[in-house]
Amino acid sequence: MVKQFENLTASELLCPKCRIMRPVRERLLLVLPNGELHAYRCQVCGETCGTREVTAPTRPLVRPGAPPPRQPRGLIG
Ligand SMILES: [Zn+2]
Repeated sequence: MVKQFENLTASELLCPKCRIMRPVRERLLLVLPNGELHAYRCQVCGETCGTREVTAPTRPLVRPGAPPPRQPRGLIG
């Protein structure tokens, strides 16, 4: 079982491998379209104890003023 943590910085988590509370280190796991997925890993054995989704404050994917992507002709209409 991997618990989800939201907007919570954990310093100690229950390690599934050690089966006790362990100090954890936060590491970037994945870069999502709207943020990042961080993983908490046990500092003793390295097991992932939990994950946290960090939502990026402002990173617009579409730049204002940029032309809209062209639709390939023939597919529509
Ligand atoms: Zn551990």
